[in-house]
Amino acid sequence: MADIVFENITKSFGDTTVVDEMNLTIKDGSFTVIVGPSGCGKSTTLRMIAGLEKQTSGNIFIGGRCVNETAPGKRDIAMVFQNYALYPTMTVRGNIEFGLVNKKVPKAERQALIQDICDIVGLTPFLDKKPQSLSGGQRQRVALARAMVKKPSVFILDEPLSNLDAKLRGQMRTELVQLHQRLGTTFVYVTHDQVEAMSMGDEIVLMDKGVIQQADTPMKVYHQPRNVFTAEFIGTPA
Ligand code: ADP
Ligand code: MG
Repeated sequence: MADIVFENITKSFGDTTVVDEMNLTIKDGSFTVIVGPSGCGKSTTLRMIAGLEKQTSGNIFIGGRCVNETAPGKRDIAMVFQNYALYPTMTVRGNIEFGLVNKKVPKAERQALIQDICDIVGLTPFLDKKPQSLSGGQRQRVALARAMVKKPSVFILDEPLSNLDAKLRGQMRTELVQLHQRLGTTFVYVTHDQVEAMSMGDEIVLMDKGVIQQADTPMKVYHQPRNVFTAEFIGTPA
C-alpha cells in the first residue's frame, strides 16, 4: 500500500508557520482533495509531498518508506500545475516526450506510450501542433498527458482547472474522475472551490490557516462537520 503519511509536519518560512503540525494519511488509490481558502497552505502541502519544498520538521512516508531525504525525481510522483508549464517552442508530442527522452526510453516504446495516452485524453489530432495554437482545455490535457507518460504511483494536481471557463471546467472534472477510476492511481488534488472538492473527491482534507479542520469523506464533511469553519465553508445547512 503506497499510502502517503504526514507525521507532525510543520513548514515555516522565516517566522511564519504555513503548515502547523499536520498529521495526515492519504490512502493509496484514493482521489483526495485538499481544499481551503487562498493562502491556507494547500500548495505548500502538495510541494512537500512532491519534494519541491522541504518540511521544517516532521516526517513524510510514501509506501512505508521515509522520503525526507528522497529527491523529487525519485518519489514516483508526477505533478500537474495550474499554468500548464508547457514548452512553447516544442510541439505537443515534444512536450509529452521530453521526460521520456531524458529517461532514455527507446523511441518505439515512447511512440507507443504517447499514442496510448493521447488516445485516452483526446490529443491525437494535435500531436504536431504548438501549445499557443491550442485551447486552454487542450493545453491542460497536454500537461496531464506529460504527467501520465511517467506512469507515476501518485498524481498531484494544483488547481489544474482554474484557468478554464466554467463549462470546460465542469467537463474536465468529470474526465479527471473517470481517468482516476481507469488508472487506479492515487490523485492528490488541490482546489479552493468547495463545489469542485465535493464533486470530485472520495476523501476531503479541509484546511484553514495551515491546520486541517477535517479530513473525511464528502458525506461526513457535509453531514457531520466538526466545527463552524467546516460547516460554513462546505455550506452545511444550520
Ligand atoms: P494556498 O495554496 O492554500 O493558496 P500556499 O501554500 O501557496 O497557500 O501558501 C501558504 C502561505 O505561505 C501563504 O501565506 C504564502 O504567502 C506563504 N508562502 C508560500 N510559499 C512561500 C515562500 N516560498 N516564501 C514565503 N512565503 C511563502
Ligand atoms: Mg495554491
